[in-house]
Parts: sequence; structure tokens; C-alpha cells
Amino acid sequence: MAAQYDYLVVGAGFAGSVISERLASELNKKVMLVERRPHVGGNSYDCYDDAGILVHKYGAHIFHTNHDDVWQYVNRFAQWNGYVHRVLAYVDGLKLPIPINLTTVNTLLRKNFDEQGIRDYLASVRVNIGEIKNSRDVVLSQVGEFFYEKFFKNYTYKQWGVYPEALSPEVTKRIPLRFNTDDRYFGDKYEGLPVDGFFKLFDRMLDHKNITIALNTDYKKIINDVKFDYLIYTGPIDYFFDNMHGELPYRSQRFEFETLDVEYYQEVAVVNYPNDHLFTKITESKHFTKQRHPRTTIVREFPEATGEPYYPVPMESAAAIYAKYKGEADKLKTVYFAGRLAEYKYYNMDQAVKRSLELFQTIAASK
Ligand SMILES: Cc1cc2nc3c(=O)[nH]c(=O)nc-3n(C[C@H](O)[C@H](O)[C@H](O)COP(=O)(O)OP(=O)(O)OC[C@H]3O[C@@H](n4cnc5c(N)ncnc54)[C@H](O)[C@@H]3O)c2cc1C
Repeated sequence: MAAQYDYLVVGAGFAGSVISERLASELNKKVMLVERRPHVGGNSYDCYDDAGILVHKYGAHIFHTNHDDVWQYVNRFAQWNGYVHRVLAYVDGLKLPIPINLTTVNTLLRKNFDEQGIRDYLASVRVNIGEIKNSRDVVLSQVGEFFYEKFFKNYTYKQWGVYPEALSPEVTKRIPLRFNTDDRYFGDKYEGLPVDGFFKLFDRMLDHKNITIALNTDYKKIINDVKFDYLIYTGPIDYFFDNMHGELPYRSQRFEFETLDVEYYQEVAVVNYPNDHLFTKITESKHFTKQRHPRTTIVREFPEATGEPYYPVPMESAAAIYAKYKGEADKLKTVYFAGRLAEYKYYNMDQAVKRSLELFQTIAASK
């Protein structure tokens, strides 16, 4: 006889894991959590490499949030190391703070502006654009042509395979502009990484008698063998509907790891390369994990058009396809869609947690 569960949850990233934990702990529901990969944690997964260095397998993941409830929730499963993220961009032979701040402008232009000086300078170079239609318009209207060319144009092309004018404004709207020397990348109220890594956090979150985990399993392979009342789906929405409205475009990424016989390779965790090389950035995880080790591992990130689906593509044509899938999803009464792949939406980790906490409230209220 097939095993009976209250909920089948597909995908063990933050979206799927948080909802599984909530349903199991708070509502005493029996949950089967199915994950295609050989581990839980989704893209936030980290592990020790052959040299014994803790690395992020799917790119650097820094937790940051302004939501008190999200922060309180994740603190139940980990202690946090207080890391504050800083990023440099390699431009014209210099390593400069990004997001652009007073130091970035003064160093690149060899000026000595104060806060008012930089405001006046940017006001003089900013392009007057009526209606903001795309990502290029956002940048030009904030910092003008020179900084657009140096920091945004080629980086965007490498990251997305198209220039900023083809992308919706949201992509560059997320990036702040600072008139002081604040060089924090995020600037949220809470920030850091789990002291013993993300994998351990997921391990503790999912350690519950009501949760059964099946790894290395595509849900379509088992769905007819498991009995369940509700499905919570956090995988790609087009795959769920057998691509009936066509495939949604995703941007992928190749990660090239290299271990070096030096204690540290670079000054900060992430150095972006907008204009040089084929990779977008080099990440050195020891900076954010705070691990002490005589050697170090770096990773170069190469964006790619095909492969594992990482980033929903922020273009109108993709949004139109997603809208059709959303229409199908809304017709289903016993299936919930949550997370960055199921909702085809760029979510940071905290937003994925928030989304699942809210979904839990909706489910709990309906019981
Ligand atoms: C390179 C990169 C860097 C990032 N850096 C940050 C950062 O610094 N800070 C931050 O807050 N966020 C960051 N993010 C975003 C973060 O990864 C997401 O917010 C988070 O992963 C969302 O969780 P999720 O559960 O929605 O998706 P995911 O973590 O992608 O989890 C979905 C899971 O579903 C599984 N799945 C898919 N299809 C199936 C199937 N058919 N059957 C079974 N399982 C399936 C997948 O294998 C995956 O494990 C980054 C993302 C990327 C790609």
C-alpha cells in the first residue's frame, strides 16, 4: 500500500524546507519532501571541498533581511557569524567599492568630492530620461554615461547575455547609489551566515519525525506512488505543466573552483570583473564563512544560457509566458506554488523564507 502523507513538498531549498518544517512542527502534518539533487538546501547549499574549505556550491550566498520575523525564525536553526558583505569591482586596473559610493567616484575620477560635491557632479552628468523603460534608463538617469559604461553595460551583458536596454528596470533599480563612504553591499538590518554553514541549518530545520525526505528524486517519478492531500511545489513552473505554454527562459551559471596555496587570494569575498575576462566575478568564501585555514578556495562564475535554472530572466516576453502558467496554477485548488522557480521571480533567501512563512499562515488559517 502507498504511504499516506498530508503534504507532498517538491524542492528542499528555503521555500520547500521552511514550509515543511512549519507544517510538521506547528500543524503536526505528515510531510514528504522530494528533492531532485543529492542534498537539501537548494541553491544555498554549502559543503567542504577536498582541501577542507567550506564552499558554496551554487555561488556565494549571504543572508540579509529587514524582516524581524524572518530573522527570528532562522535564528531558531543557526547561530549567525555577523559577517557584513563588501564587494569590489575591478575597473581600469583599480578595485573600487560597489555599489558606487563616494570612494568609487573619487578614486576613479581622481577627485576629492565631499557628499555635496558628488551630488552636484552626478546631477551634472545624469541623463534626463522621461519615462524609465529599461535597466539602461535607470542607470543613465542616476549616474550618467561614464559610470554606466564602466560598471553596468558589459557586466549586464555577461550576466544576462543582453545589454541593459533589453532588461526590465527592476534589475538595476535594486542597486543603490551612495553619496557617502558606506561600502556595505546590502545595508539591511540583519546580515550574516550560519556559523556552521547553511547545510547544518537545513539539517536542523528538517530534523522532525513528521518529515520524510527523498533525495535524488524527481517528483514526477514518484508522484503516482505516493498518496497525499496537498502538493506544495517549489520547482520550475513550466516543468510542472509539461511546458504546455513553452519553456520559460532561465539564466544559468558555471562555477570553476580552484584551491590555492595561499591563506587569502583577494581583499574581500567578491571581486566583480565588469569589463575583463569571461567570468563575472571571483568569490573567496573564507571571507564570509570566517573559516581559518592555511589554504584558500576561489570560484570563478561564468554565466551561461543553458544548464541548471538559476535566474528567471527579467524580460517582458518571459513575464508573458509566466502569466499563462500562473493562470493554470490559479485553477488548481490543492496545489500551492512558492519560491523563485515556481513563481518565476527573483527572491533573495529571506524573501523565500518570508513567502513560505506567509503561505503557512494562509494554510493554517484555512484549517
Ligand atoms: C548564484 C546565486 C547567488 C545567490 N546569492 C544570494 C545571496 O547572496 N543572498 C540571498 O539572499 N540570496 C541569494 N541567491 C538567491 C537564493 O538562492 C534563493 O533566494 C533561494 O535559493 C530561493 O529558495 P527556493 O527554495 O525558492 O529555490 P531553490 O533554492 O532553487 O530550491 C528549489 C529546489 O527545488 C528542487 N527541484 C527543482 N525541480 C525539482 C523536481 N522536479 N523534483 C524535485 N526537486 C526539484 C531544486 O533541485 C532545488 O533544490 C542567490 C542565487 C544564485 C543563483
